[in-house]
Formats: sequence, structure tokens, C-alpha cells
Amino acid sequence: MAELRNTSVQEQKNGLSVRDLILVAVLLAAGAVLKLTVSSFLTFAGMKPNFMIAMYALAIILVRPKVFQAGIIGLITGLISQIPMLNATPLVNIASETLGAVVCGVLVAALFKAGSKEGAAQKIAIPAVIAFLTTVVSGYTFALIVGCAMNGLGVGVCLATYAVMVFGTAAMNAVVVAVLIPVLRSVLDGKTPYAVKAAPAEEDQPQSQSEEQQAVVVSDKPIVEMRDFSFRYRGGSAETVKNIDLTIMPGTFVGVTGPAGSGKSTLTYALNGIIPHCYPGSFYGAVRIDGHDTCEASLTDISQIVGSVCQDIDSQMVSSVVEDEILYGLENFKVPKNQVEARITEALEDMGIADLRHRAIAGLSGGQKQKVAIASILALRPKVLVLDEPTAELDPASSLGVFRLLRKYAQQHGTTVIVVEQKIALLSDFADTLLIMEDGCIRFMGAPEEVLQHSDELLAMGVNCPRATTLTNILREKGYYHGPVCRNVDQAVAACKEVLA
Ligand code: ADP
Ligand code: MG
Repeated sequence: MAELRNTSVQEQKNGLSVRDLILVAVLLAAGAVLKLTVSSFLTFAGMKPNFMIAMYALAIILVRPKVFQAGIIGLITGLISQIPMLNATPLVNIASETLGAVVCGVLVAALFKAGSKEGAAQKIAIPAVIAFLTTVVSGYTFALIVGCAMNGLGVGVCLATYAVMVFGTAAMNAVVVAVLIPVLRSVLDGKTPYAVKAAPAEEDQPQSQSEEQQAVVVSDKPIVEMRDFSFRYRGGSAETVKNIDLTIMPGTFVGVTGPAGSGKSTLTYALNGIIPHCYPGSFYGAVRIDGHDTCEASLTDISQIVGSVCQDIDSQMVSSVVEDEILYGLENFKVPKNQVEARITEALEDMGIADLRHRAIAGLSGGQKQKVAIASILALRPKVLVLDEPTAELDPASSLGVFRLLRKYAQQHGTTVIVVEQKIALLSDFADTLLIMEDGCIRFMGAPEEVLQHSDELLAMGVNCPRATTLTNILREKGYYHGPVCRNVDQAVAACKEVLA
């Protein structure tokens, strides 16, 4: 058995990138500097913005950390405010900024998940509301500690006494955030502020073309490597996948099949990083995606390389309109705004569903939804596409259509496709490599012609071969036919002609 990996540590590591941390540091420092400099010039009716709070709220809105990470951002703000020249009440700000930041983190998680269909107004209005509420929480925490705990005021008196100051500061912070957020987002995205609907600049066109050209340069290094990989779910009595050794070169179309419960979906979870980052358990050996060890890389990093479509597409959909569904992923991946339009159009065209762009997802057929789910992943330009039973709900013609589109896309972009599929005739026809799983192990792996030679063993395992293969394998056994194993009807017809000649 390979080495047991300590994955619980990596689960914690999934989080902010270096870019995020730098952004947070710059904003917190800016908060202190603004407080010391311009704050006093912005006094209206005796009130001024609290830049320390406004800046940590901005930081949390922009990097969208986990709630505990937001709390740490608040705690750091509280510590910064202890610097004597910032004139904070000693220690009180540590509590008030931390609590404010935790609430800010909760609001960001709640409001941005629901806000997938963000228009320009929402992109400004939601952050402003968050900044307002964050300041109210932070301000009242401060007021209650100072008023009630330190000066013995009653809670009601304290709430009333500080109301004007707290709500006034909150309103000013909302304005600060509303003004700064489009500017900061534009700087981060490399785009002119407020020009939300501007057409892509001409120089953007070659950029997207060169991205495409880069994608079709196929590397000679494996894109997927599994070395003696085994995984046991927490609470499971045995390993669900065992001693998997697998090397997949870039641009390969891999078809995975096997009986129910043989570990196919578990294998896909290991490819897209859900194992070990979301499913706890015992992880042995190593899985490397494009050279990154999945135990060491964050889930965010892995998802930049691997795009996956799960079997239950309805659970994957987050928006109500096709265009928004694709946009949601692009925004989450912080794709520069000047590329968004082209990415959406291309992904819809690649899946042959340009006409569905403005349709409600609820009104689409199963096949159309499947194509939307795939398009929203293709828009992210993953190097590896992992699909778990993408045609489970589809009729034979739609299934064939999906496979044709996938193959065409993969050939054009050099994308590696790993698809779990029960319809072995489809896999045999489209895959470069067939991988048959049984009881958590890879039982057969190779070119379809090689694997399909084992039709009797496959049948014993519960894997049906394509009828064309079964027919010509019988003709071979009986000594009528001596050619290669047939994968499809055309090949079988040619074989029969040879027999009859
Ligand atoms: P397949 O996709 O080939 O049907 P799966 O990978 O879904 O196989 O499941 C293989 C085994 O792993 C099953 O016995 C299943 O009960 C178990 N399993 C799958 N997912 C989980 C999970 N999240 N937690 C615990 N056991 C799981
Ligand atoms: Mg499955």
C-alpha cells in the first residue's frame, strides 16, 4: 500500500491566493493611510467615513474569503488600529472590527451566491449595502463596549445615543465603497471603469486567438498521473479505488466504464480535486494534474485546470438563464471582462446551442441542459474536461450529438477529455483509450480494439460490448474472420463483406 497522505492539512489550505493576500494587505494599509490623511477633510454634518472599516469591507467583497478568513482580516484591522497615531480606543477595535468583518464575510457569501445575475447596479448596490451593514455591526459593537461595558450606560440608551453616528458613518462608508468598487474591479480586471458594455478592444482579438493557439500545442508531459492511488471514504470499510496507476497524455480522449459501484465517479472526484479537498478519507499514493499534486494544490488551483460536469446537472446549475449560467463561472474565475463576451459566444457555438443563449434553463430539454452545463465549463477553457455519465438522461441521437461535439472541441483545442459512460458503443467509437473499472481497480486499459478483444471477460463483469464487436468476435472465434476487432457498424459491415467474399 502506498504512503497515507495527510490531506486534512490541505483541506485547510484551500483558500486565498497570493494575489488576494496582497490585495487585502494593500487595502488595509490604504485604510490606515486614508484615515490619517483625507478622512478629516470629508467631514459632513460632523461625521466622516471610517476608512478602516470601508477598506476591510472592500477587501472582503473583492476576495470573497471564507467567514473565518474574513474574521482574521477584521482582527488584523483591529490590530492595525492599535497603532497610537490612529487614535483608536485601546483594544475595543479588535473586537468591533473582527465582529464586523465576520458579518461582512457572511453577507458576501450569502448575497453574492444569490447575485449571479449581477447587473452594473447590483455590482455597486450589493457592496454598498454590505459596507453599510458591516459598519453598523462594527460601530454598534464599539458603541456597546464603550457605552455599556466601560461607561455603564443601558443598552437602549447606548443604541439611541450612538445611532446618528453609527448610521451616518455607515452611510458614508456605503458611498466610499460604491465609488471605489468599480474602480478597483476595473483595475484588477485591466478594464476602463464603468464601461460595462463596451465592445472588446481590437487588441483583445489576437489575444483570444493566441490563447487558442497555445491550447492546441500539446505537451509531451502527462496531464494526469495517478501513482498507486487508493482512497477510502471516511467511515468506509475498504478502499473504494485501489492501487490505481494511470498516465494520460494531453489531448487524449479517455472513456471510462464499468459496473455500477466500481468506483468510476470516485475516480472523477480524484481528478477534479473533490477528493481529497471535499470528501474526507484516507488518501494513499499520488494524483498529479498537469504536474500539480492534488493534495498540495488548492481546489481553486485544480479547478483552473480541470473542468467537470457531474451526473446530476440540475444540481450544478446555479442560474435561471443560459447566458447567466456561463457568465457565473467566468465571473467566479475572475476572467477579464474584455474576454467574457467572446468566451460566452464561443462556448455556446462549440456546443451548437447559440440559439439558446437567452432561454430559461427550466424550459430546456435534458439534452439541451447537458449542453449548457458542458458549455459553461468549456467557457473556462480547462485543459482537462471530466464528465460523469453526461448522456445518462439522453436518447441515443442526443448522446451521439454530445460525443461528436466533445470530440470536435477536444481536437480543436487540444483538451484532454475523460468521460465516464455506460454506453460502451459510444465510448468505443470516440475514445482513444478505454478504461474498464471493476471493484475499484482498473481491469483493462488501452486502445478500444485491444480492450474489446476481451469481450467474454467484459460480459462476465457486466460490461456489454458493442454489438458490432460481439458479432465480429464470434466470427473470429469460429475462424471466419481474421481482421482486427470491430468497434462500430461500419467496421463490422466491412468485416462481413470480407467473410462473404
Ligand atoms: P460508480 O460511479 O462506478 O457507480 P462510485 O464511485 O459512485 O461508483 O461508488 C463506489 C463506491 O463508493 C460505492 O460503494 C459507494 O457507496 C461509495 N461511495 C461513493 N461516494 C461516496 C461518498 N461520498 N461517501 C462514502 N462512500 C461513497
Ligand atoms: Mg457513478
